[in-house]
Amino acid sequence: MNKELKGKELQDSLTYKWRNAWETLNDEEKEIVFQVNEEYKEFLDKGKTERESSREIIRIAKEKGYISLEEIIEKKIKPVPGMKIYANNRDKAVVLIVIGREKLEKGMNIIGSHLDAPRLDLKQFPLYEEESLALLKTHYYGGVKKYQWVTLPLALHGVVINKNGDKIDVVIGEDENDPVFFITDLLPHLAKDQMAKTMSEGITGEGLNVLIGSIPFNDDEIKEKVKLNVLKILKDKYGITEEDFTTAEFEVVPAGKARDVGIDRSMVGGYGQDDRVCAFTSLKAILDVEMPNKTAVALFVDKEEIGSVGNTSMESRFFENVVSELVNLTEESYSELTVKRAMSNSQVLSADTLGGFDPNYPDVLDKKNAPYIGKGLVMVKYTGSRGKGGCNDANSEYIAKIRKIFNDNNVVWQMGELGKVDQGGGGTIAYILANYGMDVVDCGVCLLSVHAPYEIASKVDVYMAIKGYKAFYMA
Ligand code: MN
Ligand code: MN
Repeated sequence: MNKELKGKELQDSLTYKWRNAWETLNDEEKEIVFQVNEEYKEFLDKGKTERESSREIIRIAKEKGYISLEEIIEKKIKPVPGMKIYANNRDKAVVLIVIGREKLEKGMNIIGSHLDAPRLDLKQFPLYEEESLALLKTHYYGGVKKYQWVTLPLALHGVVINKNGDKIDVVIGEDENDPVFFITDLLPHLAKDQMAKTMSEGITGEGLNVLIGSIPFNDDEIKEKVKLNVLKILKDKYGITEEDFTTAEFEVVPAGKARDVGIDRSMVGGYGQDDRVCAFTSLKAILDVEMPNKTAVALFVDKEEIGSVGNTSMESRFFENVVSELVNLTEESYSELTVKRAMSNSQVLSADTLGGFDPNYPDVLDKKNAPYIGKGLVMVKYTGSRGKGGCNDANSEYIAKIRKIFNDNNVVWQMGELGKVDQGGGGTIAYILANYGMDVVDCGVCLLSVHAPYEIASKVDVYMAIKGYKAFYMA
């Protein structure tokens, strides 16, 4: 054997090699990748808001035999291994549970994702008229680059509670025959001053006003005729008055369906994939779980994009209370200590997205530690920014455990970080669950154009996420 070959063998055995997940698939698996992504696109189309996504998750779960927590409390049903339960938090967040063989106090296998996505929320008095144009005022939600939201077709999704307390669901702009809405931008010919501004100032928050109408109501006696005409249409079609906006939650989102991206159809382009890609993949995974050793939990929370605050967020006690109810139904006598043990013995994958390496912007990522689309599920040891500030730094012991689960189950995975040191950063719900004493590591799918109106995911990563999450639940 010559010296060169020895060197190659040594290199093969010692050096880490990234795998392109596509290259690991046989034809049969490739077929499954494309099939499951058809379902994924449908999931994205059906849930463009946290409310719609929650509704869809509960609908699918019920079909698979999940019963509501209220029902098992009311009927005093004792949870037994294999039982499937869902808990609905104000129609905006959901918990799915499959009771395991082991006692709850031994801990749960939890995957947590979020259902909210950056968007423009309507203000409580949004409608106004200026020079015979009717517009809607908005307040953006989450981390948006404001300039991305002008001159693209927008849809209005929301819920109105009218004065009688009736709940009215409204979706305008998704059906092919629906009208859509737009936020205008300045013509380049007159944009000298605008173009000299920074990208964060060129389009302002108060400038994100949505064009909604331009036909005046036919009556010379009144002012604001266009606004009145819009109100009349809203009343006729949806039964809404101007005051009803004060008790409404309207979200302005990009109109249209998720699409295949690339001539090889290898990617999915669509709105709200942060973090519905992890919501979908963890949902698919838990739906396949029948009789796990440890109780399997899928958390789908709201308000992650604004810091996980509020009663539908991860910071609310909702999930802890659900566990308390389960302990109460399962044990002879209720004990707070059992709840604490159930929480602290749990292990968690905080399933969220991060930015994959983008050849258009190579400078913000360290190529050796960046995640890449198409190279599988991404584990992230720590998030945070500027010296790991605010991060959940997962233990090596725990990461090793997950590494083994993924390797044993042929899951293509990669290690990633949020970006170059001191370039910025972010966080997920990981630290909140870690506060209970749980083992938590960030583990999700990387995207291109994160937080843009249309984000891009690799279909093979969607598939690997489902495979990895399922292996985690079954371990
Ligand atoms: Mn996210
Ligand atoms: Mn986000």
